[in-house]
Amino acid sequence: MGMGDANFDPVRSLAAARHPFGEHGGVNRSIEASTTFTVLAADTMPAIFAGHRTPDRDGCFLYTRHFNPTVYELGRELAALEDTESGYACASGIAAIAATVLQLCDAGDHVVASRAIYGGSHALLRELLPAKSGITTTFVPITDLAAVEAAITPRTRVLFTETLSNPTLEVADLAALAAIAHRHAVSLVVDNTFCPVMVTPSRFGADVVVHSLTKFINGASDLVAGAVLGRADFIGRLMDLHTGTLMLLGPTMDPRAAFEVSMRLPHLPLRMAEHARRAHVLCERLELLGVAVRYPGLRSHPQHALLRGQLNPGQGFGGLFTLDLGTRARAHELMEVLQNRHRFGFMAVSLGYAETLMSASASSTSSELPDEALAAAGIGPGLVRMSIGITGDLEDRWRALASALREVGAVP
Ligand code: PLP
Repeated sequence: MGMGDANFDPVRSLAAARHPFGEHGGVNRSIEASTTFTVLAADTMPAIFAGHRTPDRDGCFLYTRHFNPTVYELGRELAALEDTESGYACASGIAAIAATVLQLCDAGDHVVASRAIYGGSHALLRELLPAKSGITTTFVPITDLAAVEAAITPRTRVLFTETLSNPTLEVADLAALAAIAHRHAVSLVVDNTFCPVMVTPSRFGADVVVHSLTKFINGASDLVAGAVLGRADFIGRLMDLHTGTLMLLGPTMDPRAAFEVSMRLPHLPLRMAEHARRAHVLCERLELLGVAVRYPGLRSHPQHALLRGQLNPGQGFGGLFTLDLGTRARAHELMEVLQNRHRFGFMAVSLGYAETLMSASASSTSSELPDEALAAAGIGPGLVRMSIGITGDLEDRWRALASALREVGAVP
């Protein structure tokens, strides 16, 4: 394994990375709940503090905010999934993004970011970081490679994009973005939250991959967690006792949470494929009905071929699509009818759950964007984002969706 292997198979790699024996011979690992760790010789302690003895090299652990064995195992499994040398998990997806950007940028440095990203990431880059650290961001249409390159300045350290943008499902051309970034000695940071197993950004040259584990990877909408995957030296820098952003800002993952996430990894590929299969069937039928549907698996999607070229075999095009109902009132009405009359899914933010989750992005998870940024990103007031679940009978779900669209007058 190594970054950038063209024949990489995430399903095989993830399976090979699991060492499920617990300390008593259990088929699952034990949870290491200790916050602090002993040494046999007092001299070992200063060697760990100095970074000469590490979990990797000598199995030396110090303190759980630094490295915890259970969290470390999850990081190792996720690194195997994403074909990176190393990885570490943390308390949330936004902590993973914030820690990564702050580690790569110093005060006065600059980020070039896709203008269509999760609202929290947008607010972090547009508002919090300039105010608190002087790190500024230029937002660009990520599919316009000339605009991306033109935005790079001598102070640019990070090019940030989502593989598939939230919520507009624009596809990033990862190889082209990596080439641009590396021409200017900039790190390409990719948020792969929408596409675990489907796309492996490191294969196309991403330097750092971040995830909100809260979504598909955990899959049960019952905990908040994140991860940073990349080269071993970068992960080591995040945990540096003097300058590491994960170490010193402290968004530590609890080992019990790490265990929970790890237990959901064996069925992640099956879940991803089923989310995608169902979303694809619904979208093909929606398109035939003449509904304004956007799904990267449809040939009508402007970057359908681009995503096809980046997909791992057998994974499909993902579990998310959007419907544009034109107005906020009609979007809200559709979601109410689907939830309250047809039990099609839940009106809720987040995604990657076993049940369908639906939200009107402009008035929820993208509401941090000012109006002009919403317009530029193509997030209209009637846009409904659907994260399609994997429960129930697909034909029943289709009948409910088609009926709800008729009931709100979106189709004849
Ligand atoms: N990245 C994307 C694409 C997201 O959709 C989200 C959350 O909605 C995040 C990051 C932030 O993740 P978390 O809520 O785990 O902090």
